[in-house]
Amino acid sequence: MSQNVDNIQPSYPLFRNDEYKESLGNKRANFEEMHPAEKIQEVFEWTTTPEYQELNFQREALTVNPAKACQPLGAVLCALGYEKTLPYVHGSQGCVAYFRTYFNRHFKEPIACVSDSMTEDAAVFGGQKNMFDGLENAKALYKPDMIAVSTTCMAEVIGDDLNAFIGNSRKEGHIPDDYPVPFAHTPSFVGSHTTGWDNMQEGILRYFTLNYMEGKEVGSNGKINIIPGFETYLGNFRVIKRMLAEMDVPYTLLSDPEEVLDTPADGQFRMYAGGTTQDEVKDAPNALDTLLLQPWQSDKAKKFVQNTWNHDVPKLNIPMGLEWTDEFLMKVAEVTGKPIPESLAKERGRLVDMMTDSHAWLHGKRFALWGDPDFVMGMSKFLMELGAEPTHILCHNANKRWKKAMDKMLSESPYGQGATVHQGKDLWHLRSLVFTDKPDFMIGNSYGKFIQRDTLHKGKEYEVPLIRIGFPIFDRHHMHRDTTLGYEGAMYMLRTLVNAVLERLDEETRGMGTTDYNYDLIR
Ligand code: SF4
Repeated sequence: MSQNVDNIQPSYPLFRNDEYKESLGNKRANFEEMHPAEKIQEVFEWTTTPEYQELNFQREALTVNPAKACQPLGAVLCALGYEKTLPYVHGSQGCVAYFRTYFNRHFKEPIACVSDSMTEDAAVFGGQKNMFDGLENAKALYKPDMIAVSTTCMAEVIGDDLNAFIGNSRKEGHIPDDYPVPFAHTPSFVGSHTTGWDNMQEGILRYFTLNYMEGKEVGSNGKINIIPGFETYLGNFRVIKRMLAEMDVPYTLLSDPEEVLDTPADGQFRMYAGGTTQDEVKDAPNALDTLLLQPWQSDKAKKFVQNTWNHDVPKLNIPMGLEWTDEFLMKVAEVTGKPIPESLAKERGRLVDMMTDSHAWLHGKRFALWGDPDFVMGMSKFLMELGAEPTHILCHNANKRWKKAMDKMLSESPYGQGATVHQGKDLWHLRSLVFTDKPDFMIGNSYGKFIQRDTLHKGKEYEVPLIRIGFPIFDRHHMHRDTTLGYEGAMYMLRTLVNAVLERLDEETRGMGTTDYNYDLIR
């Protein structure tokens, strides 16, 4: 074979070598029972038509290319944000391998997460024994200060009761009585990764505060609490901390995985790093108030904080773009009595300057987008602030109230008039939409590359370029370090969007002596 130790090649270009081409060709000819190329092309063309779209949108019982992940994945991310906490999933090992690799590929970091490896016998007799051994082993081997337990489909289908199992683990002496094991049931056949994050957050808050409210007094610690929701942009943790520091506002971030997802390569492996401490959670009811950064995906935590801690939890939108960052900072100022400093006012002014500089290129550009409910809402709002036009807005894991709020927001802007909101739809639906009503660009996660590829296959004039903002992003490096929140995040996104437009323009106008006639160096 042409692969050898002196010249090791990755799959590309290796598979373009003659012997691989021949081998793959033989496999295709002799074993794949493939349809003729003309037939494949005919079906491909059919799937790009309005007729196919109509059929596609009649799908009820089948999801193709979901634009969401499952609940325990979110629960794991939430648990990672707590100090010396080991996420533990009660259920099948394969699920946990999937969560770990999903985060590995996105963050390019090792992810600590264990399972109690339920197999056939546990599926029949219940997984209590797995949990006895699992909790004891995980504590002994990895020495966490807390184990946060969630569940996979298998444990949920057979109805395993985490409260009882963890209680029995204590009774039987597998874990000490006072050892923290908060938990959340995270059935994957309902909700999504954002629901799982919310469930685990509520589980942790409940564990440390529900029965310990005596002596707690709203406002007595002078802090505000921030609940980030399922957040994968590390820059967003940093920008929120920076803005609050500039306002001189003490705060507690309830789940802060910024450190553990970004450990340095200095020869020392850190299974745990940073994170919200148990003491901070216990003290959180004493804060002035709790603010949600992603309110459409934090229902359970919100209810708990309102009902148990008696916090107002004011109605806010995700602090994305200009107006909603203003709104967030003004609310922080109102709750804490601290003024917004000159440094942030200046930063805001710089963003406005950038928006003015770039608006001519973004005005009227049409974007299809997808992602989690708050991200999609914030991104649509920001696009309209830029004079760009969201066209097809898709969210697989939002509810009907969200759709109503989206429709209202879009109807209030001249730039939202051509938009359609698709709630509960998947990326195969989006594929149809970009063929029948072509936007200039798509904004979303890495999976959009297959849609871009398909549109290009139909012809260059049909191609819809993908702008990668969202989760997961596997096929580009380090984008999870960016920022999407606050004025700083808006600057990043604006830079990304306008440069995608200019990049495309360059691509379309580089014909020597034909299309290369103006603006080459002054855009
Ligand atoms: S959907 Fe269920 S089976 Fe699949 S990874 Fe998630 S928990 Fe596991």
